[in-house]
Amino acid sequence: MDAKHKIEQLRSELHEHNYKYYVLDNPEISDYDFDMKLKELQELEQAHPEFYDSNSPTMRVGGEVTKSFKTVVHDFPMYSLSNSYSKEDLEDWETRIQKIVEEPVEFTCELKYDGASISLTYENGEFVRAVTRGDGTQGDEITHNVKTIRSVPLKLKGDDYPERFDIRGEIVLPYEGFAKLNAEKVEQGEEPYANPRNTASGSLKLQDSGEVAKRPLLCLLYNLTGENLGVDTQMESLTKARAWGFNVPEEAQLAKSMEAVFNYIDYWDKHRRDLPYETDGVVIKVNSLQQQEELGYTAKSPRWAMAYKFKAEQVSTLLNEITYQVGRTGAITPVANLDPVQLAGTTVKRASLHNADQIEKLDVREGDVVFVEKGGEIIPKIIGVDFTQRNPDSKPTEYIKVCPVCETPLERKEGEALHFCPNSEGCPPQIIGRIQHFISRKAMDIEGLGGETVALLVKENLIEDYADLYTLKKEDVLPLERMAEKSAENLIQGIEASKEVPFERVLFGLGIRYVGETVAKKLVKAYKSIDVLASASLENLTSVDEIGERIAQSVVEFFSDDANKERIDRLRSYGLNLEISEEELENQSQKLADLTLVISGVFEKVSRKELQNLIETHGGKNTSSISKKTDYLVAGDNMGPSKRTKAENLGVKIITEDEFLKMIED
Ligand code: AMP
Ligand code: ZN
Repeated sequence: MDAKHKIEQLRSELHEHNYKYYVLDNPEISDYDFDMKLKELQELEQAHPEFYDSNSPTMRVGGEVTKSFKTVVHDFPMYSLSNSYSKEDLEDWETRIQKIVEEPVEFTCELKYDGASISLTYENGEFVRAVTRGDGTQGDEITHNVKTIRSVPLKLKGDDYPERFDIRGEIVLPYEGFAKLNAEKVEQGEEPYANPRNTASGSLKLQDSGEVAKRPLLCLLYNLTGENLGVDTQMESLTKARAWGFNVPEEAQLAKSMEAVFNYIDYWDKHRRDLPYETDGVVIKVNSLQQQEELGYTAKSPRWAMAYKFKAEQVSTLLNEITYQVGRTGAITPVANLDPVQLAGTTVKRASLHNADQIEKLDVREGDVVFVEKGGEIIPKIIGVDFTQRNPDSKPTEYIKVCPVCETPLERKEGEALHFCPNSEGCPPQIIGRIQHFISRKAMDIEGLGGETVALLVKENLIEDYADLYTLKKEDVLPLERMAEKSAENLIQGIEASKEVPFERVLFGLGIRYVGETVAKKLVKAYKSIDVLASASLENLTSVDEIGERIAQSVVEFFSDDANKERIDRLRSYGLNLEISEEELENQSQKLADLTLVISGVFEKVSRKELQNLIETHGGKNTSSISKKTDYLVAGDNMGPSKRTKAENLGVKIITEDEFLKMIED
């Protein structure tokens, strides 16, 4: 088989497997086999850039960086929905409908998915763009980001789809993925995301589509829009969309009367918790498209659709005590300790109070009966106080002024929501938390040592710092509870072995605020060694791609602290990696340092992705659009004429693929 056919075959196989996995939830081959096929395709595409396809399954890994999203006008406006909160509201709506439409009306019932609304455009069966709702008339084009979402088809199945149409839906972050993302956030010493919906819409606006690809987003579709759709009812359009390969939720149902609508609402009000993602109501639509047209729109919303909002699950219970937790960065979180109560299928004993402002805003006091609600959040939250039950003698809550553990006066910086205990060197939960972070899986990953043992080692005064780990001897740890000959040996060996961990993970393990895994990698790439990083100025740091003011500030602060300097000297003396290895260094060149390049068109010798990699490994910066800051435009075949004109006008040098390859030659 020639390359062209092989590529085509792999693409269609991968599209199909992708569909079976992410839309039907019924994979046919193993992840491993899928990855192998994908790899094979990637290699073939690299060898044959002439068969470039912007909708190839290989495009799902992302990598395009968009600095600012383009505003696009929707072909058809995206309306919002009128809301109803009771069955009477719905009956009134039916009456209004029947005044306009004479024949009997049937409804479709769908769940109202709580995410970010999206409009996808398809042309000749190919995905062409994705746009956010924006103000309903125009939104942001986020095509590259949406392409990474596996449940969005890049090519449609069958052949009876309209030539051009939009399909609307919702991009959600299922609970499981949300919990995983938050666990990572917390591990990095950052505040967790508030809820899945905001996290989903935030993810869609990330600049780096490679980052979006890592987030387990899901696209649910429910509305075909366009001319000559070839369908008569909403229900039929869902069936059609499903057949074209779209992820159309199965919960939609036809209701022949308002009575049936009520049954649907009652059923899902009880069972929505069994779904893997958040829903906040039911959307009822007139099923006949002909009748929809008769009904038309108000300025804001269609007259043929209505949202019914579920009441958020809420209970009231007694708040016994407000306690305060101290995190590894010293951040204080207030926690409400409640009389245990059943909520959304779990027993709730504690709820988050967020921060001092929140307590003041709600005027929450110990001894109050409070309302607790559980949305998408993992930890339920307190949304208010039942003032009718307040004890007249109660006093407003005074937020603590000193650390609940070490009693150091707390600090709160301008513009920050949280209070901090500044005693980072002497405050036990901070000491323990820092060491626990240092040994965690993504940092030093020390075998044989767990979080509880760390707490024990600190309690027994055997260590008070992560650098102390490297002075531990078997005899020191043997007397500890539950420690045997073998486990003590493993622990010491694990610590010894961690000296081989690469610099980027050591840097992450140091626990610099806001320096998570990804930032650590970026810093290592830019500075190569801890000494160079430690002497970098604020301006220098912020000039690094994606390092903002907040991170830079935190890095500078960390390295100006004497205790940290001493720690690093000690780690160095124990033989940890505090710079990238010779080998890693050799693989890096700086031939394109300080240069910004834009790639456009199709190339003969290397793929676009490879070009991007080449630019980055040689120290250059690859951006997607031409500006005054662009140094070179690497032009391939089929480059748009507007790009060339723009480059010429701005005086950007235009070079060919060969000229580029010459630049990085040894
Ligand atoms: P609202 O933002 O409260 O006006 O509600 C309207 C939004 O609900 C729409 O823009 C959609 O993003 C969203 N929505 C969620 N599920 C559905 C559904 N099944 N049908 C229509 N809209 C939905
Ligand atoms: Zn403290």
